[in-house]
Amino acid sequence: MKKRDFIKLTGLASAGLIIAPLASCGDGQPKASEKTAEPTPEPAEELSFLLPQLPFAYNALDPKIDTITMEIHHGKHHAGYVRKLNAAVAEAPGFAGMDIESLLAKVEADDTAVRNNGGGHYNHSMFWEILKPGGPAQPEGELAAAIASAFGSYEAFAEQFANAAKTRFGSGWAWLNLDASNQLFISSTPNQDNPLMVNIVEETGTPIMGIDVWEHAYYLNYQNKRGDYIQAFMELINWNVVAENMKMAMK
Ligand code: MN
Repeated sequence: MKKRDFIKLTGLASAGLIIAPLASCGDGQPKASEKTAEPTPEPAEELSFLLPQLPFAYNALDPKIDTITMEIHHGKHHAGYVRKLNAAVAEAPGFAGMDIESLLAKVEADDTAVRNNGGGHYNHSMFWEILKPGGPAQPEGELAAAIASAFGSYEAFAEQFANAAKTRFGSGWAWLNLDASNQLFISSTPNQDNPLMVNIVEETGTPIMGIDVWEHAYYLNYQNKRGDYIQAFMELINWNVVAENMKMAMK
């Protein structure tokens, strides 16, 4: 089974907890009066899903996405989805031990807690990874060719994608996906659903990029101006990561 890098569990992640920044010790040596830190405990066996670290600092996207929005979005919202997903799976033995992609492929509409929090964990894990800093301003290479083939041009794609994000009523996501024939298509889903939920959503595929249009993603900085946030997001996409996601999704 192919595993996406962004969803891999690492020893650096912690369940619902943010790792505190290292305190500066001047010469790097602990003072005699300071106790050596306790060793970090291993995550408890039953915690299947862990909050991934952001691949950049909370202020790295400022001012397009401000620091406080990033802190709350990752440290509170995403951490909450992880915590509730672990609790939901503990109550739903049919999902025990599954990786996130298998779980999303199995989930049904009435598995409410697994659906909402499993989607929330997957969607946000991808979201952090496909944001800059880094990478070219527009798609390159194979990804650029695939976008031109599917949409005519990057500009046509960007307009269609932004429109999908703008017109998603209420909370949800817009996606760039690969279908079973390795063709790109745009879709959108409500709440924390995503195109991997084959038993729930109409348009299924493998998402390679997505935008969170929940108000928690932008309201502090953009208030009701979702369109301005979408335009800022389009300038923050790390196309190298999206290209890598496309390669991994190819069948
Ligand atoms: Mn969100």
